[in-house]
Amino acid sequence: MTDFSLELNEDQLQIQKWIHDFAEDVVRPAAHEWDEREETPWPIIQEAAKNGLYSWDFLVNGFADPTGLTMPLVAEELFWGDAGIGLSIMGSTLCVAGLIANGSPEQVAEWVPEIFGTPEDVKLGAFGVSEPDAGSDVSSLRARAVYDEAKDEWVLNGTKTWITNGGIANVHVLVLSVEPELGSRGQAAFVVPPGTPGLTQGQKFKKHGIRASHTAELVLDDCRVPGSCLLGGKQKLDERLARAREGKRTASQAAMATFEATRPAVGAQAVGIARAAYEYSLEYAKERKQFKRAIVENQAIAFKLADMKTRIDASRLLVWRAAWMAKTGKRFESGEGSMSKLFAGETAVWVTEQAIQILGGYGYTREYPVERWHRDAKIYTIFEGTSEIQRLVIARAISGVHVN
Ligand SMILES: Cc1cc2nc3c(=O)[nH]c(=O)nc-3n(C[C@H](O)[C@H](O)[C@H](O)COP(=O)(O)OP(=O)(O)OC[C@H]3O[C@@H](n4cnc5c(N)ncnc54)[C@H](O)[C@@H]3O)c2cc1C
Repeated sequence: MTDFSLELNEDQLQIQKWIHDFAEDVVRPAAHEWDEREETPWPIIQEAAKNGLYSWDFLVNGFADPTGLTMPLVAEELFWGDAGIGLSIMGSTLCVAGLIANGSPEQVAEWVPEIFGTPEDVKLGAFGVSEPDAGSDVSSLRARAVYDEAKDEWVLNGTKTWITNGGIANVHVLVLSVEPELGSRGQAAFVVPPGTPGLTQGQKFKKHGIRASHTAELVLDDCRVPGSCLLGGKQKLDERLARAREGKRTASQAAMATFEATRPAVGAQAVGIARAAYEYSLEYAKERKQFKRAIVENQAIAFKLADMKTRIDASRLLVWRAAWMAKTGKRFESGEGSMSKLFAGETAVWVTEQAIQILGGYGYTREYPVERWHRDAKIYTIFEGTSEIQRLVIARAISGVHVN
């Protein structure tokens, strides 16, 4: 029996090369400019759309890979190019994931084209859960959705924060509380269609890294959406709420269902950043001479590079395992999705810091990209579940104890 293999197939290799070429030719050269501008790189997103990689078709193709590896491969290459630009593009994918995890096939078909727009007129999607007082603790969401039966409309009120593409997206998928006393089991996901009155952008944040990616507050003020915008439909929600009121188990909760599915791909983004920094510092260490020899000839530098490469490869393997498990329906018995995101995120922070060290003073300046990669990497221990929350998930899974 030799049916175990870590070799990528022809399709995967082809997509990997395609994204790598786009990242090298289009994304990487634009990275510094958009980081400095701290603006959404619309022309690059448009180019990605024209190229076919920012589209629903592309995602369908990627999601269809039975091994689950295509999306992590795409994420690694794109984020190798640049994380801020990569996230401007992938923010929409999170919105799509929110739709798929919570919506009916009809709802997915209706809203997906609105998320992407057309290559001539590209649009974005946003997925919003976090609130000022509900970050790691997503069970304590305060933003409310109240049903107005007479009009068959939902009335949304509250504030969301830290939303990638928030306020500039065409479609927002938002998780709100329907019955606050039920915690996360009383929540539901809604689509807010383009141009809906009552949804406005609050402050746009100025950030440490991934500065080309737009992050903002969203304010919902008597924002009315049709009943059909409740993802999964009213009947399913009523059944789920009834089960929760009786204290029975319910199917996955709206926010967690999305995050579980996207975690390995987020880990892959971190692998991309780490690899960029490793490759750059390896080349630099071979070129840079001090004491009449290349600095890589010193064990202190060469061993650093050896450790960087080892941790990056270990991260990728964890990501691939989690993606494969998710796709093939294997249960995450030990928090494998969280492991991949945790290890890849912390590796990216560590590797990019080593890269700055290898470049010395040059590494500390904006003349070289490694300081940007370091700033970009840091978000991977914070969003989509902080490192502490990933450890909590793993600890609970392996111990069976409700660790706090
Ligand atoms: C750039 C950026 C983009 C983002 N994009 C989105 C988005 O598109 N959509 C979205 O919904 N959200 C988004 N977020 C929000 C992100 O997911 C949250 O910031 C994250 O979940 C942490 O929440 P918090 O910031 O409120 O921190 P807190 O939850 O307040 O955590 C603060 C610290 O306490 C620790 N902590 C909290 N609880 C525990 C515990 N039980 N045990 C141990 N330690 C604990 C945390 O690990 C952390 O170190 C984004 C955030 C940023 C910064």
